[in-house]
Amino acid sequence: MNLMLRTVIFARKVNINNVPVYNCSACGRNDVFPAVKEDVGRLVGQLGARPAPHSIPFDQVHEWAGVLSEALNLSKTLQAAVIAKATEERVNQLLDLWLIASSLEDEAWKKELHIRLSQLSTKYIS
Ligand SMILES: [Zn+2]
Repeated sequence: MNLMLRTVIFARKVNINNVPVYNCSACGRNDVFPAVKEDVGRLVGQLGARPAPHSIPFDQVHEWAGVLSEALNLSKTLQAAVIAKATEERVNQLLDLWLIASSLEDEAWKKELHIRLSQLSTKYIS
């Protein structure tokens, strides 16, 4: 099983780009990466029954997809070492932002950053 980023098409109208999937090299089957399934589902739920055609960059919605997208910019295929480095850098960026949010006592921003950091927790990566 290979981890890659794919476009998932919903209701033949909405392209959800850069969704992490496991691709089986034997039969070509794609399975959405288990830890992001719930978030993809929530996104689809928000689209309603008759969505207007558009694209959603999932790598901007979900930090784990964002890190994989960044890792793909750095190397042609997804490699564990590159993913680990991109993850570490993103976590450090988010922690820096958290310090700023905290010093501003901006609770809404802190909450958003907490969600983003949790998207990079080990339950997603392992
Ligand atoms: Zn297969």
